[in-house]
Amino acid sequence: MPRILIARPTGFCFGVERALRLARNALRKYPRVWTYGELVHNPDVLRELQNEGIRIAARISAVRDGAIIIRAHGCPPEVLTQCRARGLEIIDATCPYVRRVQQVARRLAAEGYQVVVVGERNHPEVRAILAAAAPRALVYSPARRFRKTEKIGVVAQTTIGRDRLKAAVANLLDFGYTEIRVFNTICAEVTARQAAAVRLAKRVEAVIVVGGRNSANTTRLAEIIQPHCRRVVHITGPAEIDPAEWQGFCRIGIAAGASTPAKVVAEVARILRMSGGRKDE
Ligand code: SF4
Repeated sequence: MPRILIARPTGFCFGVERALRLARNALRKYPRVWTYGELVHNPDVLRELQNEGIRIAARISAVRDGAIIIRAHGCPPEVLTQCRARGLEIIDATCPYVRRVQQVARRLAAEGYQVVVVGERNHPEVRAILAAAAPRALVYSPARRFRKTEKIGVVAQTTIGRDRLKAAVANLLDFGYTEIRVFNTICAEVTARQAAAVRLAKRVEAVIVVGGRNSANTTRLAEIIQPHCRRVVHITGPAEIDPAEWQGFCRIGIAAGASTPAKVVAEVARILRMSGGRKDE
């Protein structure tokens, strides 16, 4: 039987756990509960929520009544304005760590800084940060230059790798801005998961990364461990495992994103153990 090692921490992070709790509590209180976009980037969890009666709204204009959950990624202020205009009950599940990034960005903009957000341009969290500091915020790009006298304020999407923030700051420093303020707004939980996954990757023959394909922190996890292990495979859940593929492996690692339920990780581990067989070392 292959040895299965699981990177810890695993299971939902604090922000996802909180968002799910708020959404389920809302179901007890309001006849109709919606989430603005996918509450978490995990298909299994979304299916469960849907079965419990929680619906997804891609646009606020599609919601007529009831309660709307703002997901852990947060949302631009105009979305809240639209919700109020439609008389919806707002349940704000923005993760407190994400809210902090919005607050820092807003404060920097108010103090006259050009805010630079290191992250993925189209990610909802980044869009919300940009909106919080508009019009003084944009997404970091190595090619983008400002006047050298411009005051630059840097924040990061909570789920990016530390290396990406370091590279962006190094590039800004090289350009010679006289004032750069950097806020490390990467989530400590994400950093801990990334470090644990790298440690694990160095000890095993292959790592299976479990989580939604549109989950930023899961995708990043897979990218970060790639240089440390010969085989890294990203799957969304147990249904994507072919036990025959894993026969002959002695040590397989599992790492999971912050929106992957612990029970999904446990099931992946169970299937792998059943795959049996040993690979000669
Ligand atoms: S990964 Fe961190 S920032 Fe994102 S929801 Fe979880 S706790 Fe919050």
